[in-house]
Amino acid sequence: MSILVVGSVAFDSVKTPFGEATEVLGGSATFFSGAASFFADVSLVAVVGEDFPERHLDFLRERRVDLRGLQRAAGRTFRWVGEYGYDLNQAHTLDTQLNVFAGFRPVIPEAYREVPVVFLANIDPDLQREVLSQVRRPAFVAADTMNYWIKGKTESLRETLRLVDTLIINDAETRQLAEEANLVRAARKILAWGPRTLVVKRGEFGALMFSGRECFAAPALPLERVMDPTGAGDSFAGGFMGYLASRMSFDDVTIRKAIIMGSVMASFDVEAFSVDRFRTLTTAEIEARFREFKRLTHFDDL
Ligand code: AMP
Repeated sequence: MSILVVGSVAFDSVKTPFGEATEVLGGSATFFSGAASFFADVSLVAVVGEDFPERHLDFLRERRVDLRGLQRAAGRTFRWVGEYGYDLNQAHTLDTQLNVFAGFRPVIPEAYREVPVVFLANIDPDLQREVLSQVRRPAFVAADTMNYWIKGKTESLRETLRLVDTLIINDAETRQLAEEANLVRAARKILAWGPRTLVVKRGEFGALMFSGRECFAAPALPLERVMDPTGAGDSFAGGFMGYLASRMSFDDVTIRKAIIMGSVMASFDVEAFSVDRFRTLTTAEIEARFREFKRLTHFDDL
C-alpha cells in the first residue's frame, strides 16, 4: 500500500561528539521516506532549490520513492545546521535557512489523491490542512509538529489535530502543547482535542503510545554505535507508518507492532550520518532487529 509524505528535503550540516557532516542530504520527508520505503510505496511532496544535486535525489530514486510531487523552485534549498553534545537527545539548532521552503505551497499530484495513508511531517499546520483538503478520504493520517508551530500557530495546530488519527511528537513538545508538565495528563488533554492515538518520542528512552485509557511503552535499543541522532524522529515515523501501510490495519495491536518497527528504523538511522545507514540496510537486518526488540522487552508472567 502507499503513503503520501509532505515535509522538508534539506541540506543538513551536523556536528556530534563523534564526527561531523556538511551539507549532506536531510529533511523530515527524506528520513521518513528512506525508512518507510522498506515497507510500502512512498510518494513525496516537498520543494528543493536550483542548487539541489541530482545525486541526492538518486538515494530517493534507489529507494523507489515517487518524486512526481517534488517541486524545484528558483532559489536555494532549505538548510539546517545543528549540533549535539554528549546528550544526544538534545539537538541545538545553530541555523535554519528556510530559503525556497518559505514560499512552499504543497500541490498534491492527481495520481496521489486517493492515497490511503498520509504523513504530515513538521510543516506549518495551515499547510498540513491544505494537504488534507487535496486528498480523498485517506484511511489513516498522522502528523508531526514542533515547538515553533506550537508557540506561533497554536489555534491552527489545534484545527489540524481535529483531522488526524495519530500525532507523533517528542516529550518536550507534548508538555508544551498541552501546557502540562505531567506527561500522562498532557497526553489525555491532547487526545481530547482529536487524535485517537498520541505517540510520544523520548529519544534514547524510547517511545510511549497513548490511546483511550491505554498506554504502551517501547524502549530504545541500547546501541554500542551512535553517530548522529538527526532524523531519528522522522525515521521512527517512517517505520511506524510504513508498517501500518503494509498491513492496512490501524487497530491498537497493529499500532503496538508499528511502534516497535518505528523504534527499529530510528535505531538504524542513528548509526550513521544523514541517511547513510539506509543505503546499505537490508530487510533481513530489519527483521533481526525487530526480534532483538522482542527479546529486550520479553518477561514471563509471575
Ligand atoms: P528529527 O531529528 O527527526 O527531529 O528531524 C531532523 C530533520 O528535520 C533534519 O534533517 C532537518 O533538515 C529537518 N528540520 C529541522 N528544522 C526544520 C524545520 N523548521 N522545518 C522542517 N524541517 C526541519
